[in-house]
Amino acid sequence: MAVDRAQKLSEHYALGDFLVDVTFPALAKELAPDEATIKNLGRLADTIERLVAEFPGEWKVLSGYRDVKLNEACRNAGLPASVDSLHLTGCAADIEPQGDVDLEAVFEWVTEQAKTDLAVHEAVFYPLKGFIHIGVEDERRPTAKRFLMRT
Ligand SMILES: [Zn+2]
Repeated sequence: MAVDRAQKLSEHYALGDFLVDVTFPALAKELAPDEATIKNLGRLADTIERLVAEFPGEWKVLSGYRDVKLNEACRNAGLPASVDSLHLTGCAADIEPQGDVDLEAVFEWVTEQAKTDLAVHEAVFYPLKGFIHIGVEDERRPTAKRFLMRT
């Protein structure tokens, strides 16, 4: 079944926005998420909208949903991708601000909000690479919450 990349997930994001990968664009073109994955991407988009509302401007998805093939390609390239990555079920994305945004402040805000009402399960801040990994919980594959800073 063909995937409708124009399908709207949230105010600013369509499905296609999460079917991308800056390192492996050709592999990302082949992505065909199932219904459960699309639902997860919807929850992820809603969470990212909260972040965008707090830190306005354009946020680009560097890597969103990954099938096993794409995730393995990332792993083989030495990128930070784990075998049980939340990217594999559409529950995580690496996002990069296009404007002048203090990513450390974003990371701190996300970490604080996660203690109350923001449905964030993972936030990994890569200050040198200039992006943040944001993940929502995957009820079907429980993992520990993690909030950390990497190089
Ligand atoms: Zn990530």
